[in-house]
Amino acid sequence: MNIKKIRNDFPIFAQHTNPELIFLDSAASAQKPNLVIDAITTYYQSQNANIHRGLYSLSEQATTAYEEVREKVSRFINAQNSCEVIFTKGTTEGINFIASAWAERHLKHGDEILLSHVEHHANLLPWQRIAQKTGALLKFIPLNQSTFLLETDGELINSRTKLVAVTISSNVLGNVWPEGSLEKIISQAHNVGAKVLLDAAQVVGHKPVDVQKLRPDFMVFSGHKALGPTGVGVLYINQQLHDEVEPYQVGGSMVYEVAWEHATWAQAPAKFEAGTPPIAAVIGLGATIDYISENIMFNELAAHYGALSTQLIDGLQALEDVKIYGNIQRMKQEGHLVCFTIKGIHSHDIAAYLASKNIALRAGHHCAQPLIRLLDVDALVRASFAAYTTTDEVQALINHLPHAMKILKK
Ligand code: PMP
Repeated sequence: MNIKKIRNDFPIFAQHTNPELIFLDSAASAQKPNLVIDAITTYYQSQNANIHRGLYSLSEQATTAYEEVREKVSRFINAQNSCEVIFTKGTTEGINFIASAWAERHLKHGDEILLSHVEHHANLLPWQRIAQKTGALLKFIPLNQSTFLLETDGELINSRTKLVAVTISSNVLGNVWPEGSLEKIISQAHNVGAKVLLDAAQVVGHKPVDVQKLRPDFMVFSGHKALGPTGVGVLYINQQLHDEVEPYQVGGSMVYEVAWEHATWAQAPAKFEAGTPPIAAVIGLGATIDYISENIMFNELAAHYGALSTQLIDGLQALEDVKIYGNIQRMKQEGHLVCFTIKGIHSHDIAAYLASKNIALRAGHHCAQPLIRLLDVDALVRASFAAYTTTDEVQALINHLPHAMKILKK
């Protein structure tokens, strides 16, 4: 994998306005390669028409381009059938979709929803709502605060468990699953008839994801975190559940027949995609998959991340008063993000100082307030990487910290 060539594919780094941009915030939203930007522009310049409606050739071309992306995504995540791929606005919409269109109708008082202590608000708040509406209970897989791995050995799943909704990789701590434990939880859930939703927002684009191996009932991710456009995400729904899941929204393009008083739905995926979808973003997502397939080898990407994480962690550990959050060994192997605090300095002040040096990274609660409280901090600094991240960028961060500490320390 040629990092220099890959970086040259991302025009933001070549723009005159950003000659010194050091971008270490890819876990929030990754940069986009030319191939993706061009695909979106080409669609608007020469293919733009609504899909699934027009009988004229422009509309047919747009429909074909849109549906080809469904096939591409399906192959990319190894779905059994492309009708299992539903386009959404992103991870957040995908989880709210399942909460409202499946869980609200299938959960009742006393049922249990199993989450983990590391969930992003997107995979916590929808279930809090469902618990309030149905009387179901939320349970959490605890985090071991010395290993930064989840404690999966306890009695987590029982006959009352109806849903396990967990992230494959945390946006704060990275991979938190002890070896083989995610697969074990999924199979325990299925053994009691519970459904499994996986939040793959921090995995897709970083590692291969195979739904036939992992066997989730539902899986969600966002295009924009995987080098793709904003405004589009994917909700995978196992075909066997297509009758059990109601449409999330109703309206155009998703019906079989409509009368004044009632309507019947088309087959999936149309049943789950009411209204005009984000056609250009979907086409951009297709180009993203092409880009990844042509340029990124996942085993080499893991080694690249491991090298960047090792460089950063070693640099941070050489400084006094820095605390790193996450399983160091895992991070050094494959982690694409590193969270830390510096004693006596607020994380926002560090991020603001670094911003003044053209270093873009994120500080805050990372939409995981209960986790941050559990870790006994109010904000963490997070540096995160993508395929285009260089060792020079990581070094720039390390080099600026001693001065930041000198002037910011109370
Ligand atoms: N889950 C995880 C693990 C995430 O990192 C994010 C984004 N930070 C989300 C869910 C929500 O994704 P989006 O904002 O694209 O809907």
